[in-house]
Amino acid sequence: MSQYLYKRVLLKLSGEALMGEGGYGIDPKVTDRLARQVKELVDDGIEVGIVVGGGNIFRGMAGAAQGMDRAQADYMGMLATIMNALALQDAFERGGSACRVMSAIQMNEVCEPYIRRRAMRHLEKGEVVIFAAGSGNPYFTTDTAAALRACEIGADCLLKATKVDGIYDKDPVTHADAKRFDHISYHEVLVRGLQVMDSTAAALCQDNSMPIIVLNIEGEDNIKHALMGEPVGTVVVQ
Ligand code: UDP
Repeated sequence: MSQYLYKRVLLKLSGEALMGEGGYGIDPKVTDRLARQVKELVDDGIEVGIVVGGGNIFRGMAGAAQGMDRAQADYMGMLATIMNALALQDAFERGGSACRVMSAIQMNEVCEPYIRRRAMRHLEKGEVVIFAAGSGNPYFTTDTAAALRACEIGADCLLKATKVDGIYDKDPVTHADAKRFDHISYHEVLVRGLQVMDSTAAALCQDNSMPIIVLNIEGEDNIKHALMGEPVGTVVVQ
């Protein structure tokens, strides 16, 4: 029987991944499917932390492009991630998983503040922890927040869930001959400028030897297969 290669994982979910077929907002079919997958992992003894993006609602860069002050727009983006985190928490709890939302921006009426040791304690008890509001700082992304939280909580790997099944040498949507990597080094990701995650996040993972697995969130049980070392997606290592 296959065994898990990782015990504590940090799953990065983009806002786009929550959108499903729609062009905006949150698709309950997607959150319910995620809830089922995550429950199975937790039941198998895997500790699951999640960093959720906000691009399905608001991105700071988009606001800045329309003339907004960048930091102000980024705070709006961080608030969008809190909305996504609350939607996920609701789906997880309905699906039978205990789940905490910890925010990098204090919002005590709706969720807990992020406290690293408390987050680790929740994980040890088998509770899913959703890290909301990114890093709490403007000019960052939730990819970087995911790399940061993965390192902070001592995760064994960072899973980046996307709408494509790994890292390609060029955009597979526009190039029929795009080649998918099974494994690739952080260095190559950075030097080639591959659009897997932003360079700050990739460099943080490289400096801290945090393995990254990029996979397609839409495939049933992809997360579980990836955590068992099966060839799902692309693995980024030294
Ligand atoms: N954001 C930020 N600091 C952080 C994380 C996020 O300012 O540490 C803001 C930023 O404006 C970003 C938005 O929140 O555009 C939503 O996050 P992101 O774009 O990473 O979401 P995703 O693309 O994963 O849906």
